[in-house]
Amino acid sequence: MAQIVAMPFRHQKSLICDEARKMLTDAGFTLVCNESGAKLSEAELLDMIKDAFAVIAGTERYEAPLLSKCGELRALMRFGVGTDNLDLKKLRSMGVQVGLIANHNAVAEFALGQLLALLKNGPRFDAAARKGLWSRYPMFELSGRTVAIIGFGRIGRRLAELLKGFGVTLLAYDPYMDEEAAKERGVAPCGFEEALSRADVISLHLPSTPETFHLMNSDTIALMKDGAYLVNTARGSLVDEKALYAALKSGKLAGAAIDVFETEPLTADNILLGLENTVLSPHAAALSYETNYNGGLICAESIIRVRDGGRPLYPLW
Ligand code: NAD
Repeated sequence: MAQIVAMPFRHQKSLICDEARKMLTDAGFTLVCNESGAKLSEAELLDMIKDAFAVIAGTERYEAPLLSKCGELRALMRFGVGTDNLDLKKLRSMGVQVGLIANHNAVAEFALGQLLALLKNGPRFDAAARKGLWSRYPMFELSGRTVAIIGFGRIGRRLAELLKGFGVTLLAYDPYMDEEAAKERGVAPCGFEEALSRADVISLHLPSTPETFHLMNSDTIALMKDGAYLVNTARGSLVDEKALYAALKSGKLAGAAIDVFETEPLTADNILLGLENTVLSPHAAALSYETNYNGGLICAESIIRVRDGGRPLYPLW
């Protein structure tokens, strides 16, 4: 019987390119896909993956009780890079190879783009112009400012490269700082509190873990410069939204560009929706055409590699 590759995530139809599907079927796999476009219930998810050799996963949760029932599973490809929805310990103990895709350029470009939109009033100008208003709000320049990157991994490092031409002072905080990578990109490593107190812009690029929950809260936001900006394209759990709201409302912070929220999808009662000094987006930072296209190919090639005794292209271990 042909081995199964399951694609249970709800956006698989639009995100996994035809070439990747063909690679897998040509290699002899049977594809089982979520065609509903809706998030699967836990029972539906189990039904789809219980006999699968490989899963291409979105942000749905893969906890130990579910994984225990998947005896055939050998590869799990995360169509993204966040792994907070995966029980990695369990996957490792089962001998499952876990791989990621490469989306660091897309997210870094998005973070920079949304920061510029915030400084340049992009959404406000657009909304006013569409109402027939000639509203010319004041704007700010990035040049000459200090930007602190919190989490100097793939995305943080790429953002530093993109920022090079803007004439900014670059700081970065990472408890596992790669000093060489920082030096190459003209970035000064510093402590977390120093980054908060010196930066005009704080951009978050670290994982969601129990230790990083509400990293940005009323105490840490209080340490930021008055009139600073916050960019979060990492994970919603990193920011206490109530504290962020208070700081944006009072003017302590000048603005925030937020792609990820404590509750997703964003609900109509989210307090941040009522503010003008925010640029909000629906957890979309990585969704460039290029990342999706290449991501599908990376998943397909990685699964074939695992089947043939190799490792995923971007392995987690
Ligand atoms: P990465 O693993 O390459 O880098 C993360 C870095 O954070 C590492 O260098 C790590 O040492 C550092 N780190 C860990 N704990 C830290 C802490 N307490 N303080 C500061 N730094 C810490 O990951 P990446 O690919 O650069 O992704 C970064 C974040 O972006 C992740 O949270 C990921 O989930 C998120 N992400 C979001 C989207 C989106 O669509 N919005 C897409 C991709 C990734």
